[in-house]
Amino acid sequence: MRQSKLFSRTLKEAPKDEVSVNAQLLARGGFISKLMAGVHTFLPLGFRVREKVIGIIREEMNALGASELLMPALHPRAAWDATGRWESMKSVMYQFRDLQGKEYGLGPTHEEIVAAIGTHIIFSYADLPISTYQIQTKFRSEARAKSGLMRGREFSMKDLYSFHADEQSLAEFYEVVKHAYLKVFKRMELTAFVTEASGGDFSKEHSHEFMVETSAGEDETVLCRLCGYAENKEISKLKSGATCPKCPGGVVEHVATSEVGNIFKLGTRFSEPLNLRYRDAAGALHPVIMASYGIGVDRLVGTIVEVHHDDRGIVWPRSVAPAAAHLVVLGEDEKVRAYAEKVYEALTKKGMEVLFDDRHEMSAGEKFTDADLIGIPARLVVSEKTLAHNKVEVKERKNGKPELVALKDLPALLGSNRE
Ligand code: ATP
Ligand code: MG
Repeated sequence: MRQSKLFSRTLKEAPKDEVSVNAQLLARGGFISKLMAGVHTFLPLGFRVREKVIGIIREEMNALGASELLMPALHPRAAWDATGRWESMKSVMYQFRDLQGKEYGLGPTHEEIVAAIGTHIIFSYADLPISTYQIQTKFRSEARAKSGLMRGREFSMKDLYSFHADEQSLAEFYEVVKHAYLKVFKRMELTAFVTEASGGDFSKEHSHEFMVETSAGEDETVLCRLCGYAENKEISKLKSGATCPKCPGGVVEHVATSEVGNIFKLGTRFSEPLNLRYRDAAGALHPVIMASYGIGVDRLVGTIVEVHHDDRGIVWPRSVAPAAAHLVVLGEDEKVRAYAEKVYEALTKKGMEVLFDDRHEMSAGEKFTDADLIGIPARLVVSEKTLAHNKVEVKERKNGKPELVALKDLPALLGSNRE
């Protein structure tokens, strides 16, 4: 990846209308471009981060035994009338007519669609439990789409749906998903609190939200730091300073958080109206028991930036960084340039992802400022000074001291930093 050919540019100043850190840094670093409030382009670097985030989620969902599918964004009204949600979701769902007067909606979520597909796949208790997920673009008419990637009108979500014959099977899978979620967030270097939240209209039980502490979050979580117990403010009766109900000595506080995921028992709310049923061993018909589990892919990218940055820019966790190394060549000297090309080729050949700042007529200061802003974990510098030693200067973005390293030692050094 040559920076001179990258379809993006860094900005000295953040766009004036952006207030949140993630929106400012992602715009300045050339990761995203805003088309309108809540609708963004992922530019090449942002696209790579998003792909890394998706890769981690996909691995953990596949590990659950869930198979990936892809459902459409454009839905006919009839699919939503079956459950009454064409009316009840009017305030968030984009709904419109085509020239023939037929009504459509853009999917804000996919319970109706997946349950209807399930009727062609699930027939007997022997078909259960089963689960499927997608990573897909959602549309929601959000009243306040601000805060960069945190709340989009068009955004990608990972949505997983599970189907069960009984509550026991659902409860078991629900716990397994909970742990898979924590693993997903941990791999992105985020600490997520499993938070008790309202079960909504579907369930008497609580649902669970995964909350990451950040001032840019729109949620308020009542949290005990001692044992990690957390409840959403919407259901909590606990004031800041109250005794934690789950551990001796713990005290709760109210903290701003971002909901990066949630898991929800749906019961038969969708299977009954959509006629999704299975036959038990005796041949009797029962509605399938369902659950849905969401992760906000784009919101995760925003949240990672909110958590991992300093006053100079983003500090990407290695697992989601757009590249492993940012190679910077200084000056116009031909020998220096040729050596940098050699380093780029050698590392790329080893399968390493390198962003190569091969731009001309730029000062060291300008290039370093950009490298800090973009936030790739390791910065490699090739200059007259380093070439005099036949070496490359290596500096970690996160509090690293520069050191001179021979080209032959670079792959091992950078590789060994990897998880
Ligand atoms: P919120 O309370 O933040 O509006 P929600 O309860 O509507 O979230 P779900 O419908 O459960 O969210 O969606 C699953 C996940 O998708 C959420 O946990 C969140 O991470 C993400 N998400 C929801 N709405 C948006 C949005 N407008 N923009 C970006 N991500 C979103
Ligand atoms: Mg919402």
